[in-house]
Parts: sequence; structure tokens; C-alpha cells
Amino acid sequence: MDLQKTDVVVIGAGAVGSMALWQLSKREGLDVVGIEQYGRVHSHGSYAGETRVFRTAVHEGGTYVKMIQRSRELWRQLEAESGRDIYSEVGCLSIAPEGFPDLEVAMANVREFDIPHRVLSNEELRAEYPQHIVNDDDIALLDEHGGGLRPEVAVMSALDLAEQHGARLFFNTPVIDIEERADGVVVRTTQGAWLAGTVVIASGSWSTRLRPQLNELLRLQVLGLTWFMPKDPEAFVPAKFPVFLRDAGAVHFFGAPSFDGYAFKACTNPEWPVFRDVSEVPTHHTREELIRIGQRGAELFAGVNPEPVRESVHHCAYTPDRLPVVDRTDRVVTITGLSGHGFKFSPQLGEWAAQLVQGEEHTVDPRFALSEHMRRLAELGPYTGGGH
Ligand SMILES: Cc1cc2nc3c(=O)[nH]c(=O)nc-3n(C[C@H](O)[C@H](O)[C@H](O)COP(=O)(O)OP(=O)(O)OC[C@H]3O[C@@H](n4cnc5c(N)ncnc54)[C@H](O)[C@@H]3O)c2cc1C
Repeated sequence: MDLQKTDVVVIGAGAVGSMALWQLSKREGLDVVGIEQYGRVHSHGSYAGETRVFRTAVHEGGTYVKMIQRSRELWRQLEAESGRDIYSEVGCLSIAPEGFPDLEVAMANVREFDIPHRVLSNEELRAEYPQHIVNDDDIALLDEHGGGLRPEVAVMSALDLAEQHGARLFFNTPVIDIEERADGVVVRTTQGAWLAGTVVIASGSWSTRLRPQLNELLRLQVLGLTWFMPKDPEAFVPAKFPVFLRDAGAVHFFGAPSFDGYAFKACTNPEWPVFRDVSEVPTHHTREELIRIGQRGAELFAGVNPEPVRESVHHCAYTPDRLPVVDRTDRVVTITGLSGHGFKFSPQLGEWAAQLVQGEEHTVDPRFALSEHMRRLAELGPYTGGGH
């Protein structure tokens, strides 16, 4: 088979891949190729589903704050360069009982990192956001830099810009395997093969198929999305209803305002098992799951029809401690395991991908290296799962 030569191949043009392509395509004199198994923007990846929550007041602790702050700058840059609306800064409201551990961590973060925010008492919460039915012990943190990202528009924009800068993109072209050789990495696809100086693996939930080294580390968690129709859609528009995270007892809900004018997103995940391969993941909620989600939704949001009007089921690759894999070994850069919360910082990951390919200075947390993940895996034991 003839090998076509290039400096770098990015495998997967989803959240990470599109941002990596955008960043790599800006490097002077670098020949960049992107290869995606589906079309330019599609519904099969972890990025699909209209909106993604963007929070600066992360529950996970300070690790992510710098990544998110850099990503916020890059999201604005992507909007400016593409002329498209991608990031609606409508705020992110975290509602939970006072003292709830995740809320406490988020509160500590906003104070430590000086993140613009408001803490709402139970009375203020009820008065300002009557769309939420809250318990007497609930309070809220409004992260004023939080909001909603539009993932399909973001991926499309980054890919368009990469192409404008000269990157060559190939769609409907699955990569079958990669082979590291002394003179480069051979990337075999269904349409031919490339010899690349460096390869970026940004293939999300499919990464273990190309990198067996990830088999023990990554598990696929299923994440479902549901949309509800309120009696008063006007009350759920972005100007009045921020993106939200809610914890009530054992129930965790997350969602976004109505961007389509008739339904808003409110989701909670049934107890799905974890999987090893995308082919095992369910493609829809069952009838029983939708009824249960509907009942919970009707308990938490004022005046909603308790039957979700849209639903979809997705997957995401998780690591046990939910830190992403950002690794360079010889000629292969691997960025995966975004663990259900990584869309918000995908521009930072894309920038790191380009810096790792080029051997430039970077700020990647050493804990994200594959060898460090494998070391912790032995200590942490099996995967635990979690939301975003
Ligand atoms: C339902 C849901 C809700 C979420 N909510 C949030 C949220 O609110 N906030 C947040 O920050 N994050 C959220 N996340 C997480 C975030 O969306 C994902 O972590 C992120 O999209 C993962 O990016 P990725 O690039 O690794 O994978 P993807 O975006 O899935 O991209 C991988 C790409 O690689 C392609 N590919 C795979 N294998 C091959 C191959 N062999 N050849 C060619 N192409 C290949 C795929 O087709 C795909 O396009 C959510 C995830 C899900 C599923």
C-alpha cells in the first residue's frame, strides 16, 4: 500500500480533535491531516447533544480552574475567528443542600480563585428562580462566568478554521490501526495509509481500539440527555434560566435553558453499567427509565410536562479518578478519558496537543501522563464513575 506523507495526523475530529486541528493548523509550515470516521459533525461522539455545561466554579477542585480559565479565552477566540456564537455566558447555578460536599468545594474554589459569583439563600433562590422547585435546606451558587457551550457549532467552527489554515480533513474514513516505526507512524484507514511524523489520538470512547495500552484504564460510562416541555417556555429562555446542576438526595440533575424555544434540557442518569466498547452501549433510554426521569423532573421543575419530549443516549471514556489522559510517548500524543466533564476545557486540550506535537513549552499537569495514570490505577482500584 502506498504511504502518503505528512507531518501530523489527528485521529478523530470530535471535541479534542477539532480543537487540536484548529491549533495545529496555525503552526507555520506544518502539514496537518485530520481523519474522522463519521461526517464533519455527527451525532455519535461524546460531544453531541446541543449544549454542554461550562462552569468555572468546578466541583472537582482547583486542578481544573486554570485549564478552564485558558479555555474560556480560547472559546472567545474561536467565536471571534469563526463569527459564530458558541459560548452563552448565562451563568451556571449549582443548587444543593447547604453543606453538600461538591457545593462546598465549588464555594472554596470561587473564593480562592476570585471567580465572579453570588451565593443565594433559600429565599433568594425561590424568589429569583421560581422555575426550580427547591427544598427548605437548598441554597445556590451562581457562577457568573458559567454558561452553555454549543458543541456541534464549536466542532464545526474549529474544523472550518483548520481547513481555512490549510489542514486537510478526511471524513467517513475510519482509522483501522497505527504502527510506530523508526521513520514515523503508519496510520491505516479504510481509504489508504499515511506516514506521519507524529500522530494525535483524539478518538474519545474508541481510543482503546487503537491504543490497547488504555484497555485497563478506560471505561465507557453511559450518559443520557432528556428535554422537557414547560407550560411557560418563556420562563426557561437563556436570559431567565441559567445552566444548572442540582443535587437533591441521591438525585443529580444537570441541564440548560431552552435554546429551541419550546423545551429545556434536564437530565439525570439511570444506573447504567460501565462498558468497554462503544458497540455495547445502549442507544436509547427504556420506557421505564424515561418515566422515572420524567417523574423526578416534574418534582424539581415548576410546570413541566413529565414526559421528556426529546431524548438521546451517549457515552464517554472515563478514567478512575476522572483526570484526563494527556500524554506524549515517542511519536504518539494521546488525549482521551475526558470523563464526562471535558468539553468545557477541550480548547486547552487542543492547545496542549499542538504544543506536545511541536515540542513546545506547555502547562500539562504531570498527573495526566499515561504512566502516572497507570501508577494510580494500581492504587485506586476499579473505576467509580460520576457526572460532569
Ligand atoms: C451526554 C454527555 C453530556 C456531557 N456533558 C458535559 C458538560 O455538560 N460539560 C462538559 O464539559 N463535558 C460534558 N461531557 C463530556 C464531553 O462532552 C466529552 O468528554 C468530550 O466530548 C470528549 O471529547 P473527545 O474528543 O475525547 O471525544 P469525542 O468528542 O467523542 O470525539 C472523538 C471523535 O473521534 C472519532 N473517532 C473515533 N475513533 C476513530 C477512528 N478509528 N478513526 C477516525 N475517527 C475516529 C469519533 O467519531 C469522534 O468524532 C458530556 C458528555 C456526554 C456524553
